[in-house]
Amino acid sequence: MFDERGRSREEVLEELERLLEADSTYSSGHPVASMSTIPHSLGVDVFARTLEKNAGRLHTFQGSARVEQEVLRMIADLLNLKGEPHGTTTSGGTESNILAVLAFRERAKRKTRSPEIIAPKTAHSSIDKAGWLLGVKVLRTRVDKQYRAVPAAIEKKINDNTIGVVVTAGTTYLGQIDPISEIAEIAQDHKIPLHVDAAFGGFVIPFLNEIGRGGQRFAFEVNGVTSVSTDPHKMGLAPIPAGTIIFRDPRYVKAITRTVPYLRGESSVQVSILGTRPAAPILATWAIMKHLGREGYRTVVESCMKHTDHIMERLHQNPMLHAAIEPVMNIVGIESREVPLDTIIRRMEQKGWRMAASPLPPTLRIVVMPHVTMGAINAFFNDLDEISMTIPP
Ligand code: PLP
Repeated sequence: MFDERGRSREEVLEELERLLEADSTYSSGHPVASMSTIPHSLGVDVFARTLEKNAGRLHTFQGSARVEQEVLRMIADLLNLKGEPHGTTTSGGTESNILAVLAFRERAKRKTRSPEIIAPKTAHSSIDKAGWLLGVKVLRTRVDKQYRAVPAAIEKKINDNTIGVVVTAGTTYLGQIDPISEIAEIAQDHKIPLHVDAAFGGFVIPFLNEIGRGGQRFAFEVNGVTSVSTDPHKMGLAPIPAGTIIFRDPRYVKAITRTVPYLRGESSVQVSILGTRPAAPILATWAIMKHLGREGYRTVVESCMKHTDHIMERLHQNPMLHAAIEPVMNIVGIESREVPLDTIIRRMEQKGWRMAASPLPPTLRIVVMPHVTMGAINAFFNDLDEISMTIPP
């Protein structure tokens, strides 16, 4: 009910605290399958100080507008773009993917009235959402035994209605990287744009390269890549909602820019889907990136990979469980030999763990974010070992 008379701040806060007891907290280490984490404390400070700023009104908030451009420049640099970035900050990977498909569609308006995009089965479900919203058919293609896109399967689906291809650098289910260079060559041969969804991998793969953990070419260093999306609110340690999409060619941004007649200056043209939107996460991203530098992120990735190695050691000690693939980054998909996954999930949830399951392949999913400590991993595996080795009657 919406009460007639207001209550004291203390009363309200107490009730809210009670209500929020049902939430998991990252500090407990429990959400082992979340792509968000505890935001960096500097980002939290900046966020709290800048709540009133509206990134949908950049004419009013011209300082924030400049900071947004600096964020895009730093991320473009991380993604090896030579020259000026063209793009926008967004609310996250979903909005970025929708904008990529929108840009494909607008640029291909004269080419077809029945637009289609091609994406491997492992591309994030927001691609289907984009297709549904934008009237674009999504053709899903098969993946190989390592759950990577099969370039030949993508090429086979290309036809006169194809307006673009979407691949992933750091898949949601297993953290796998599609063979982007090969697919980019195919896209170029057919003069089709290619979007790389690096929502998760964007803040991981460049540092895997640097710590000798076998990263690979995935972003603008690959000719034929048209756009790359990356989420600071995942491994960038920024507060939610912080996403980005960057295009190599300004014509793609122009194609998705709309005017808002009652606003002035920069505010009157908007690239993002949202109108009013918080500048705070953008400003927090700027501060965290400036503060950590590449060195800071490298240390974060190194630590997450050490924890991932520990998970693999624990898995090797359990004959009933195994990893679907050798982890490429800090995501592990676990298959069970005997006990059905549903049973494991139910029993782990009874013990207080918040679990996630992926459909392809059927796995328990662990995302080894910075809040997932060695202690949390050991506690999780103590429970998981017990459950997975007890075959139900
Ligand atoms: N792309 C990938 C690869 C993802 O893993 C996710 C989310 O997990 C998204 C896009 C969607 O991101 P968001 O939830 O920030 O919209």
